[in-house]
Amino acid sequence: MASKQTVPRKVLIIGGGFAGLECARKLANNDSFAVTLLDRTNHHLFQPLLYQVATASLAAPDIARSIRQILSDAKNVTVLMDEVTGISPVEKTVTGKSGEVFRFDYLVLAAGAKTGFFGNDQWEKNSMGLKSLADAQGIRRKILSNLERAELTKDYAERERLMTIAIVGGGPTGVELAGACADLIHRSLKSNFRRIDTSKLRVILIENSPKILEHYDPEQSDYAKTRLGHLGVEVRNETRVMDVQKGKLLLNDGSTLEAEAIVWAAGIAANPLTKDLGVETDRSGRVTPNLDLSIPGHPDIFVAGDLTNMRDRNDSFVPGVAPAATQMGNHIAMLLKEEVRLEATRFADRKHQLRPLFKYTDKGMMAIIGKNAAVMKVGNITMNGFFAWIAWLLIHILFLIGFRNKLSVLLGWAYSYIHNNPEARIIVNPPQTP
Ligand SMILES: Cc1cc2nc3c(=O)[nH]c(=O)nc-3n(C[C@H](O)[C@H](O)[C@H](O)COP(=O)(O)OP(=O)(O)OC[C@H]3O[C@@H](n4cnc5c(N)ncnc54)[C@H](O)[C@@H]3O)c2cc1C
Repeated sequence: MASKQTVPRKVLIIGGGFAGLECARKLANNDSFAVTLLDRTNHHLFQPLLYQVATASLAAPDIARSIRQILSDAKNVTVLMDEVTGISPVEKTVTGKSGEVFRFDYLVLAAGAKTGFFGNDQWEKNSMGLKSLADAQGIRRKILSNLERAELTKDYAERERLMTIAIVGGGPTGVELAGACADLIHRSLKSNFRRIDTSKLRVILIENSPKILEHYDPEQSDYAKTRLGHLGVEVRNETRVMDVQKGKLLLNDGSTLEAEAIVWAAGIAANPLTKDLGVETDRSGRVTPNLDLSIPGHPDIFVAGDLTNMRDRNDSFVPGVAPAATQMGNHIAMLLKEEVRLEATRFADRKHQLRPLFKYTDKGMMAIIGKNAAVMKVGNITMNGFFAWIAWLLIHILFLIGFRNKLSVLLGWAYSYIHNNPEARIIVNPPQTP
């Protein structure tokens, strides 16, 4: 703890996601630090369950919690809802959209990533990403409204387009979303419509590579593809999107796929704030920090989470997943506490050289494929099917923040499981029909 004479260091954290929140929690009630956490939203979002909001299984409050509420007991942490618009590493200031200028002794940039279009940003307006609650609600609104419009139209071609969902990207997000869409339409909604035949609704998953879930074992990728097939999802491997236009995709074989709902789950790009750091970034805008997570040339500025691209001290690649972000947030907090301790010792002038280096602990990966099936890979151990699905449920419940959220998600899932009847189906503000 700080002695009475010590002025607390100003730690500014940008982003209340997995990395930023963990850092704030680990510095909580330590009087060596005055922490300010800035986020453009007022909530911490559990992104791994976003696809369930998009497919009407969960409601938005089930997977988000007020950051202010989470940190209410952390007396040295001030939470402000402000969107950061600029960072000056030299002046050690950050500017918010509110106009306020925040000074820092230490900066932790943990502002995450956004949907990336491989340089084709014009595709954004004709497709939907899945990164925020607003995105998830937008997808749900679109899918449900399209079905309502399909029930009304007499035009066969229009009905077909309204009843096609194209998902681009066969990674975990695309696979989970495709499986959940198929479950929603072919199981839950099948008896709800009178004019349209919901079994005719097409969910098409488009992937450039020969396999979906590329980072899993090949037999797990094959399992996922077969399983999606049973759910009625058309998986198209080795298919590249050449253009995204309104209501249609142009593909590399020269064909056009008409789909009123197009979800882009094929890539991410780092938050553009990384540009302000004045260091080199990769093609997706991600920063490669030093092994202590500070950025080159600025020992007091740290980066964490999805906006990094790095290998750890054992040369293991650090993936863009929630456990990696959490571990980075934790590492920075531990490092700062150690640094303050060293300042009061004879090692003070070597504090930067003595910093601990980041080590990533791989907790494994898992993806759900509709009801009752998942794939899981932890080290060399793999598991597919029902028990992997049960493990997925338990782990996701465990990591949801807040007792209320855990309970309501659990009850919601149990209800939907038994009745095949997701509840979050109300369309608020339907999109304007053309
Ligand atoms: C659909 C989906 C499914 C996923 N599934 C899994 C999964 O199953 N397992 C897994 O481990 N990982 C999964 N991930 C990845 C995981 O969610 C991310 O790796 C993790 O959220 C990264 O944490 P972060 O702290 O870097 O960023 P985030 O959690 O994205 O947090 C960034 C925060 O910064 C805030 N912010 C952004 N810009 C600004 C600004 N200018 N000013 C102020 N605040 C700002 C945002 O509001 C946000 O709160 C999934 C991601 C998605 C999108």
